[in-house]
Amino acid sequence: MSHRIETIALPAMSPGTQRTLKVHRFGTSGARPKAYLQAALHADELPGMLAAHHLLGLLRAADARGEIKGEIVLVPVANPIGLGQNMLTVHAGARYARGGGDFNRDWPDLFEGLRERVEPQLGNDEAANVRVIRAALADTIASMPNHDELSALCQILMGFAYDADIVLDLHCDDEALQHVYMMPQHWPEGADLAAELGAAACLLCDDSGLFCFDETFSLPFTKLRKELGDRFSIPAACFAATVEFRGQSDVFDKLAEKDAAALLRFLQRRKLIAGDPGPLPAPCEAKKLDFVEMVEVPVAGLVAYKAELGERVKSGDLVAEIVDPMADDPVKARTPIRARRDGLILTRCLKKLAAPGDTIMMIVPPRSAPPS
Ligand SMILES: [Zn+2]
Repeated sequence: MSHRIETIALPAMSPGTQRTLKVHRFGTSGARPKAYLQAALHADELPGMLAAHHLLGLLRAADARGEIKGEIVLVPVANPIGLGQNMLTVHAGARYARGGGDFNRDWPDLFEGLRERVEPQLGNDEAANVRVIRAALADTIASMPNHDELSALCQILMGFAYDADIVLDLHCDDEALQHVYMMPQHWPEGADLAAELGAAACLLCDDSGLFCFDETFSLPFTKLRKELGDRFSIPAACFAATVEFRGQSDVFDKLAEKDAAALLRFLQRRKLIAGDPGPLPAPCEAKKLDFVEMVEVPVAGLVAYKAELGERVKSGDLVAEIVDPMADDPVKARTPIRARRDGLILTRCLKKLAAPGDTIMMIVPPRSAPPS
């Protein structure tokens, strides 16, 4: 049995209170490939947490059979800070209550200063270059501040992920079909993840500019390759993806068991776990995120949807109306929102009180459409 459990205390933010982080490690430390999986960085997104709970059981069973071949690090509750942010019966787990920042934005830019540090040591040995880059990343992370609960949490999670070959950040959307975000540099290689999960869409984004957790670990390699790839052999060594496990209320054992089994088969396929995952299901097509229609509303009001999640709509179809409940004449109270292109309704916003500029829906172009 290789399973080790660590409980890490975060700095207390008020006397008598302390958060802890629980990490499960499987396989030999340093074994390859290494996968890091964490759930609910947005702490009010619980479907991934339940999937991680089921995955833990599957990993323990695989470990008991001696099937763990790589190294697997699993954190089922990545954000105990946000998990505890319940005020007056409302759980607000996506942003830090003490500072307001989104927990999945503005992660440190590990590419900053990286080129200058590693360039003198790079050569044409791909594996050696990856080791050099990871050592530099480790130094950067070790020098980061860790004096309060949030900075300490960030440093600890980054320490788990920076040297992983695979990083999976398990989230969910408001109301959504299952979908996955990854970098175009990892497609079609990453089609196995989307296929195993049965994702309705795989959205490709080179660099969102938002400094999301997954990009923190993939971008240093792809950016270095872009700048130095003509001189040195630099692979996109970290396959990092964000998995959106449907919507916030889709917290059911039946779904989570299925999702955990899919993650296990993915890890088998990537040779971290022994065993035959069986034939790979047909993956969805990948679409550039730029090509996805973000349906915005022009006015404030109540959102009355006219199209269902998973529905295929045509350009010009009515997908919602924004209702002004203060209008004098109810006949004139409704602003129609129409699809601007054909596609599949992938997500809908749960909040039914919209402000101008709010995105209430994502529509993914049909399978036959080429990425823009
Ligand atoms: Zn999220």
